[in-house]
Amino acid sequence: MVQKYEITVCLPSFSTFGAPFLKAYMQIIEQARALSAALKNLKNPFNLGFVPTMGNLHQGHISLVENSVKHNDYTVVSIYVNKRQFNDINDFNAYPKTLASDIKLLEKFDNLILYVPESEKELFPPDFDKIVLDLGEIDKNLEGAYRPGHFKGVIEVVHQLFSQVKPSNAYFGLKDFQQVAVVKKLAEKYFTDLTIIAVETSRENSGLALSSRNERLSENDKKLAAEISKSLKIIAENFSHKNNDVVIEEQHRLKKLGFEIDYLCVANESTLVPTTKFQENTKQRVFAAIMLSGVRLIDNMPIKA
Ligand code: AMP
Repeated sequence: MVQKYEITVCLPSFSTFGAPFLKAYMQIIEQARALSAALKNLKNPFNLGFVPTMGNLHQGHISLVENSVKHNDYTVVSIYVNKRQFNDINDFNAYPKTLASDIKLLEKFDNLILYVPESEKELFPPDFDKIVLDLGEIDKNLEGAYRPGHFKGVIEVVHQLFSQVKPSNAYFGLKDFQQVAVVKKLAEKYFTDLTIIAVETSRENSGLALSSRNERLSENDKKLAAEISKSLKIIAENFSHKNNDVVIEEQHRLKKLGFEIDYLCVANESTLVPTTKFQENTKQRVFAAIMLSGVRLIDNMPIKA
């Protein structure tokens, strides 16, 4: 039987000699030089979408890819577990690597290049210079406060990936709302022709935000973890001038259920500075970083004005 989708592993020697981009074939590229050669072979003019990931793909990642494929002529998806953004080496070591099943999930897309840098030096050559970026308040609270060095690592890898891929549009998930804000600042300074597109969070039917980390939860814990999105929804729908206690109430409720809370708070969407006050005519969001059985889960929702 002839398979509709086949995978071509684009080795450096192959791409150096000008491998044509074959529609309905996915190229898998492991080296920066090969990526550059493959991009040069795309039929001009084109829009290029980019979806950076750390792999262990799920429907949340795929929703970003679907968006990109819909609105661009070609899409690059990258899979790279970036050690620099992990403040906990155990967390890095435990990060699931599932390339074979990731490839299976991507096979159905046409005009897609999968970039899987084979080593750190593909992204960070010896002359890599540190990135200077003033983020103001944006990286000071929430994840920035609880994961020292995390956003520095994110900025470094995303800068290098954007420089190599040179996309027209790059897709990021709103589940990592603070990351979207940081990446937008990076693009404003270094990649002015690039549009950053934020995609809604994909959830289980229970409301639990899809995450690679969910796999580390037992079935019981997974059911319990849905209480996080329930709390966010309660706060999003009820936080007001008259009712800012709802945040404390939900903190207590989750603690009683056995969760450990890094933060569950409302913050201004633009500055990401937490507040206990409802602010009229200001976009506010409720953010959570919560541990369950040693697994740290994050999520957020907009406050309904
Ligand atoms: P990661 O592989 O965890 O670095 O995530 C890669 C991209 O997928 C990031 O832009 C994430 O925000 C996004 N993402 C992760 N989980 C979800 C989700 N449940 N819904 C939408 N986007 C997501």
